[in-house]
Amino acid sequence: MISSKAYAALSATKPLQPFRLERRDPRPDDIVIEIAYCGICHSDIHTARGEWGPTAYPCVPGHEIVGTVVATGKKVRGFKLGDLAGVGCLVDSCGTCKACRASEEQFCQKHIAFTYNSTELDGKTPTQGGYSTHIVVREKYAFRIKKGVPLARVAPLLCAGITTYSPLKRHKIGKGHRVGVVGLGGLGHMAVKLSRAMGAHVTVFSTSRNKERDAKQLGASDFVLSTKPANFEPLTGTLDFIIDTVSAKHDFTPYLMALKNDATMVLVGASPLPSEVLASSLIMGRKRLAGSLIGGVRETQEMLDFCFRKKIYCDIELIPAAKINEAYERTIKGDVKYRFVIDAATF
Ligand code: NAP
Ligand code: ZN
Repeated sequence: MISSKAYAALSATKPLQPFRLERRDPRPDDIVIEIAYCGICHSDIHTARGEWGPTAYPCVPGHEIVGTVVATGKKVRGFKLGDLAGVGCLVDSCGTCKACRASEEQFCQKHIAFTYNSTELDGKTPTQGGYSTHIVVREKYAFRIKKGVPLARVAPLLCAGITTYSPLKRHKIGKGHRVGVVGLGGLGHMAVKLSRAMGAHVTVFSTSRNKERDAKQLGASDFVLSTKPANFEPLTGTLDFIIDTVSAKHDFTPYLMALKNDATMVLVGASPLPSEVLASSLIMGRKRLAGSLIGGVRETQEMLDFCFRKKIYCDIELIPAAKINEAYERTIKGDVKYRFVIDAATF
C-alpha cells in the first residue's frame, strides 16, 4: 500500500482535518501520481457537507489534480516516470457500454467511479480524492500535461475547465455568438475565458458588483449586476447561449427571457435545492433548458490541449492545506479569485 497524507471530512458539520490514507499498490494498468496541486471545486464543498445527499465519511475531496508520475504498472504505455499527469472527476467506468464506447464515461451505464465519495468498479472500495500527496489511477483516466505549463493554474482545468468547455463545444459556440455566463466563480471565470477564446461575445451575470472589472479583464464585453431585475430588460431576446454556473438556488426566468428564440441555457451549477421554472419563459420563443456533466476522457484531453495551445489557465489563489476550511468559507461567500488551489507539499 502507498501511504498518503491527506485532508478529510469526517462528518457533514466538522471542519476537514489531516488524515492518513492508504492507496492501493499499482495494478498493471495503473500509474502512481505524486500530487503537486489540487483545486478546490464547489462540488467538494457540497459533498464534504453532505448537501447533495449522504456522503460516505471519511471523505477526501478533490478532483482537480496535477502531479508527477512516480511509478507505473507493467502494462502502462502512455506515461513514464517523471511525466506530468492530471486526474479529474472520474477514475474509472465500465469501458464497454454505449456511453463509454463514445468516450462519454461520465455517463457510464454500469458504474461511474467518481474520484471521491464513490466506489471502485468492485462496488465497495471507496474512492478518495486529491487533497492528498498521492493518487493511484488507471492510466486511461489520467491526462497528459505538457511540460513547462504553470502547473498550479492547470489543476482546475480538470473540472472547472472541462465542465465549461464541454457544453460550449457541444453547442458549437464560435465567432459572432453572444454567450451569457451566470456566476463568476471557478467555473464561471473559465466559461468566460473559453467562450472568448472560441470567438464569442461574452456577457457576465453576477451578484457581485465588485467583479465587473475582473469580468472585463477575463474577456467579457458586458457585465450585468443580476441582483437588479431592471438590468435584464435591455437583454431580452439577445443571447445565443447561456451557461449557468451558480452553486445555489436562483430564478432561471430572467436568463431564459434573455435568450433568443430556439436558444439554450445549460445548467452546470448544481444547487442542492430545486428552482422553479415559469413554463412560459420556455414556451415563448421555444427555448431550451439543459444540463451538462463534466466531460469524457477524450474531450478532457482535447480541452487540455486546447488550453495549452492558447495558453488559457485558471486564475488562482494558492493555499497551504491548513487553509482549506477557510477557503471553503470564502468560496461560499464568492470571495475567491477565482479558484483556490492547494499546494500538496503542505499536507
Ligand atoms: P464557485 O466558485 O463558488 O462559484 C459559484 C458562483 O455562483 C459564485 O462565485 C457566485 O458568483 C454565484 N453564486 C453563489 N451563490 C449564489 C446565489 N445564492 N445566487 C446567485 N449567485 C450565486 O463554484 P464553482 O466551483 O464554480 O461551482 C459552481 C457550481 O457548479 C457548483 O454547484 C458545483 O457543484 C457545480 N459543478 C458542476 C459540475 C458539472 O459537471 N455540472 C462540475 C463542477 C462543478 P457571483 O459572485 O458572480 O454572483
Ligand atoms: Zn469540480
